[in-house]
Amino acid sequence: MEEADTNASRDARQHELHFPPLRNGADYLVSVVDHLTKDDVGPRDLKYAVLHLQAAIEVLLKERLSREHWTLVFSDPGQASLRRFHEGDFESCTTKQAVQRLRSIVGCDITDDERSALIALATDRNALQHYGLTQNAHAVEARAGRVLDFLYRFIHAELINPTIGTADERLSAELNLVSRGVRSIDAFVKQRMRRLRGDLKGREPRTIDCPACGQSALILAASRPPLQHQCLFCEKLYARAEIMRFHLTRTEGQVRRACPRCQDHALIDGLHVASETAPAPVCFTCNCVVPEARDVLANDPAVQDI
Ligand SMILES: [Zn+2]
Ligand SMILES: [Zn+2]
Repeated sequence: MEEADTNASRDARQHELHFPPLRNGADYLVSVVDHLTKDDVGPRDLKYAVLHLQAAIEVLLKERLSREHWTLVFSDPGQASLRRFHEGDFESCTTKQAVQRLRSIVGCDITDDERSALIALATDRNALQHYGLTQNAHAVEARAGRVLDFLYRFIHAELINPTIGTADERLSAELNLVSRGVRSIDAFVKQRMRRLRGDLKGREPRTIDCPACGQSALILAASRPPLQHQCLFCEKLYARAEIMRFHLTRTEGQVRRACPRCQDHALIDGLHVASETAPAPVCFTCNCVVPEARDVLANDPAVQDI
């Protein structure tokens, strides 16, 4: 793969004309693994990992969409034309649209967390092309690892299916490399989480998933405002409103409710909290899980805006 070419998506489209998309996608993933599993991952490695991962996302998600129906890869399927499809002369759907169509039309199993990671990576890619990579490297690395893991499973579940395509030897050798890489990136994330265990201990009711890196390492600070909450995995600092907005916008129909402890309309349901086995309500004034709120949520009047 030619590293000098920074326009990975254009690169992906050109390659599609010559290589089968599945092989092409696996090829990008091998490059991602090469960059992320070096002994000393530098900014340049992260940059190419993100560019090639985004290229792989585009190729693989669109390949699955086009197997369902070729019009689905158009930004507006109502305006699709077979001639323009064959010529590759059309505006194709965004990653966000592709994920939405795969979930609602094709019926692919893509969780909310995976959807967030895929869309966040598309945002990384755009930021990187315009401003360079300014984000925390640990967050980018963890997110890239999660997307890589998702794509690896997506290829097996959705694209290598005896009824819709055939795998050949070279592809399976490439996928073995990807598989090994996924495991070693996973090992990196687990190792870092293990190191943090001591710092997280005792704060489980205040520990939620971090929107940036996805790890269960964002500690809601206990003291009264003004304060900032910090993720111990990627070290990102959050203002209260930022975390609340993230949770209110990521799930449709999500609202703020009155907290039974402090009466503030700062309670959001359905969060992953380290102390709970099931999604739970968290109050962003009490800054912790409020398990007893589960009982009253059903009858509580909701507040729509933040
Ligand atoms: Zn984080
Ligand atoms: Zn409260």
